[in-house]
Amino acid sequence: MLPVVALVGRPNVGKSTLFNRLTRTRDALVADFPGLTRDRKYGQAKFENLQFIVVDTGGISGNEQGIDQAMAEQSLLAIVEADVVLFLVDARAGMTAADQGIANHLRKQDKPVYVVANKVDGIDGDSETADFYALGLGKVSQIAAAHGRGISQLLELALNPL
Ligand code: GDP
Ligand code: MG
Repeated sequence: MLPVVALVGRPNVGKSTLFNRLTRTRDALVADFPGLTRDRKYGQAKFENLQFIVVDTGGISGNEQGIDQAMAEQSLLAIVEADVVLFLVDARAGMTAADQGIANHLRKQDKPVYVVANKVDGIDGDSETADFYALGLGKVSQIAAAHGRGISQLLELALNPL
């Protein structure tokens, strides 16, 4: 079985952009992987020599109700299913209460989590992402999903220990 990598984070941080880049083509979308449920979007990713299943989620924003509640629930299930979690935050928007809420949840899981600051294109990545170390989840990787920047280093960091 290939390792399962879940993309989580509040809405609009770039999860789907990263998903599309990792899977490259709509053909990569897969319906059936044993043991995985269907409410989340799965794709088979091939990046350099790495192969894994990537799971896109709708997002978690904290204090959810209605449709947001359902979206949050499937994000929480994706975390349970995953071998490794990529927790995306938005380097341009900076830290938000939702990021902190998600971090609180992730810290309680017995699962490898990597903080990924997306959208570092055109900004000073080191200074704009420094605040995210306060999430208490270790190293903050910098990527620009829309431009493919930083992804190779991120995957090496997150997948090699598996
Ligand atoms: P999701 O809600 O987390 O799935 O976020 P999306 O992937 O839908 O992206 C939200 C917005 O962020 C879109 O307008 C994307 O084009 C934009 N975005 C995603 N990645 C990047 C990036 O690397 N740089 C910049 N500047 N914008 C990005
Ligand atoms: Mg999305």
